[in-house]
Amino acid sequence: AKSQGKGRHVIYTEQMDQRTAELSRLAADLRTALDTEQLHLLYQPIVTMPDGELFGVEALVRWTHPERGPIGPGVFIPAAESTGLIVPLGAWILEQACRQAVRWQHELGDAAPRTVTVNVSARQLREAGFAGEVDTILRRTGLAAPTLTVEVTETAVFDGGTALDELRAIAALGVKIALDDFGTGHSSLGLLRTCPADILKVDKSFVDDITANSQQAVVAAALIGICQGMNLRAVAEGVETAEQAAELHRLGYRFAQGYFYARPLPPEAVAAYHPAFSLN
Ligand code: C2E
Ligand code: CA
Ligand code: CA
Ligand code: CA
Repeated sequence: AKSQGKGRHVIYTEQMDQRTAELSRLAADLRTALDTEQLHLLYQPIVTMPDGELFGVEALVRWTHPERGPIGPGVFIPAAESTGLIVPLGAWILEQACRQAVRWQHELGDAAPRTVTVNVSARQLREAGFAGEVDTILRRTGLAAPTLTVEVTETAVFDGGTALDELRAIAALGVKIALDDFGTGHSSLGLLRTCPADILKVDKSFVDDITANSQQAVVAAALIGICQGMNLRAVAEGVETAEQAAELHRLGYRFAQGYFYARPLPPEAVAAYHPAFSLN
């Protein structure tokens, strides 16, 4: 391992529990990763049902650690959030995704993904001037605002402070707003009154059991009703089987994302995407 400046010298005390130490070590390595091309984005197709055609993509960050190999975002995003590193990292992710969206448009024309979705964490949304930064990145990359979707969790918006103002400012740019993992947080429905949402991502937990006669299926059915009534686009997340897709479609879902259709893919595989599964 190269020793790279003071960021790598993590203060370690015996009292510090292992998990905290692990997080600071990751955060230190992540600082290096940002500058050394260890990070890249994959893009998971969001498809229309029943035809399975590509509608949009969600950008998902990946980190190949020089010694440890691949590390999932579920591990290093929390480390980046707790250290504040998510702010520069998130800006990098946003810019990469916007650049890629423009590249697809040049390369594929009408067949390019119609929307590119980027996850934005609570910590980024709390940063004053974040909406201004989104605007700057759109101008720099030449991406039209309505092609970008910013995906936030309910908890991020409820973080208080200026998060909601920042989100409104982003919406005012013409960027689409998606509420991620919808239904898993607190007072989800109240949020729909105050938050400028265009899209609800219906959490995988409601999709998993949808073919059983479960409570989750009842919630999934109620959520599509709410979306239709409020003119929101519903996207079902984590669709893994043909049976789930068929049931979601029967309930009225028209957009889906999940391993059944496609895993997160490198940009060239998105360009080559063809529906393998149609419900017809
Ligand atoms: P998420 O935003 O809910 O993203 C969906 C996650 O579910 C992704 O995991 C995706 O690969 C996975 N997934 C998609 N379809 C299926 C399926 O059919 N079955 C199963 N079992 N999983 C599926 P991933 O890429 O590991 O990301 C995990 C989480 O890390 C994301 O959850 C998101 O909260 C966070 N994350 C990922 N990329 C970014 C990023 O660029 N910025 C921020 N702030 N967070 C990110
Ligand atoms: Ca997401
Ligand atoms: Ca999600
Ligand atoms: Ca999630």
